[in-house]
Amino acid sequence: MPNLRLANLIDGRLQAPRQERWLDVFEPATGAVFAQCPDSSAEDVDFAVAAAQRAAPAWASTPAEQRARLLNRLADLIEARLDAFAALESRDSGKPLSLARSLDIPRAVSNLRYFAAAVVPWSSESHAMELGAINYTLRQPLGVVGCISPWNLPLYLFTWKIAPALAAGNAVVAKPSEITPCTAALLGELSIETGFPAGVLNIVQGRGPTVGQAIVEHRGVKAVSFTGSTRTGAQIAAAAAPQFKKVSLELGGKNPAIVFADADLGDANLDTIVRSGFANQGEICLCGSRLLVQRSIYDSFRARYLERVRALRVGDPGDAGTDLGALVSREHFDKVMACIAQARAEGGQVACGGEALALPGALSGGWYVAPTVIEGLGPDAVTNQQEIFGPVVSLIPFDDEEEAIAIANGTGYGLAASFWTGDLARAHRVASRLDFGIVWINCWLLRDLRTPFGGTKQSGLGREGGVEALRFFTEPKNVCIRY
Ligand code: NAD
Repeated sequence: MPNLRLANLIDGRLQAPRQERWLDVFEPATGAVFAQCPDSSAEDVDFAVAAAQRAAPAWASTPAEQRARLLNRLADLIEARLDAFAALESRDSGKPLSLARSLDIPRAVSNLRYFAAAVVPWSSESHAMELGAINYTLRQPLGVVGCISPWNLPLYLFTWKIAPALAAGNAVVAKPSEITPCTAALLGELSIETGFPAGVLNIVQGRGPTVGQAIVEHRGVKAVSFTGSTRTGAQIAAAAAPQFKKVSLELGGKNPAIVFADADLGDANLDTIVRSGFANQGEICLCGSRLLVQRSIYDSFRARYLERVRALRVGDPGDAGTDLGALVSREHFDKVMACIAQARAEGGQVACGGEALALPGALSGGWYVAPTVIEGLGPDAVTNQQEIFGPVVSLIPFDDEEEAIAIANGTGYGLAASFWTGDLARAHRVASRLDFGIVWINCWLLRDLRTPFGGTKQSGLGREGGVEALRFFTEPKNVCIRY
């Protein structure tokens, strides 16, 4: 019997779902059920939206400094429980505890602190006009907004959405992934201790097609910020369209990492290139899953790269030495294994990995996949076009810059690209021609919260981060006053 039963946060109180239905939450490391999450209904969403509507006017007129103080207090409470949050995140998602401790939870804290700091000096534009008038623009909160987040970086992405929404003065109805609901539930408990007014933050747990869809379709919800798959993003865009509801969509990717022959391929950079493919078991939307390598260095690079990938340790997420933990769910494990089979079927060779790993003892029920490198497939192969979202990287040779750019841009996605070069002119040239929302040169995953984040093509719509997020969660109103 699972010992952890999560609750919804509605109107400032922890509540069971009205229909008393629950979903099992699995521990990916063992495959065992360890918690239960509310399987909420549209009725729970109605109650949450009603509570948010009651809270929204007072929250909107609360001074930004006071909203910022509460966000900072919540950040402090999470930071004080870093170990508990990290342990729960690792247990819920299968990611290495070390990663949850060094990346996920600290970033969640930073998200809250960043938007608390950003909203205070955020001012509206004003223009004095020749005719004796002043023209200024108010940025007013929207009222009630929806935030829907995925399972791969659970608290990191949950806070990435609720922090700017709350900072900008909106009341929020949020839904974390039903696959990894635990840390958001803990944050909800702490938000009560923080002192947020009842109804300002509501968390409704449950499945996407019920709770998520009810949030998107609810007439009281003025905008939806969503991070997740391209397929769900398209459904949300269609469901929001009849109401002309604002949506921000952060979706999937098929990101290239391009290695030019002139790159510094010292150990540090090579380690980063390996990490860019396999961090968090490859379950980061920004991971490079297509590794384009200039043909003149292909063989030497390949040998050093494979040596490092083979040395990655897959194992108990709780062990300090683990590089890759378990995949998040049985369903996702099956999908990744099917993608590897597909790569073989379309003529790819498995240069390393390619199989599920059976670990001993309690871990024998867990969902582990060996870090896998595929080669021999052309850029248009299914393996090089579809998002796998697991520990699978495909090596693709190219001859020159022109070809590298064409291959990199040649998928339906446009989230993030990284490339490695020692030539500054090439760095600027290639960056300007890559059709992606984010480009890293000689680095990967260096994120500055002040900068815009998002993708082109099927990787999304709009940008989050920095003032972009504050803009999304507010409505500009132009006011002209004659004196
Ligand atoms: P998903 O689309 O299955 O689910 C994401 C969230 O949407 C979950 O909370 C889910 O319950 C909810 N949902 C599902 N169906 C819904 C519906 N019809 N209406 C409303 N909500 C619904 O995605 P996932 O499998 O949880 O996450 C993995 C995907 O997320 C990958 O494609 C990955 O690339 C993407 N991702 C993108 C970014 C980014 O910033 N661009 C970041 C992380 C993950």
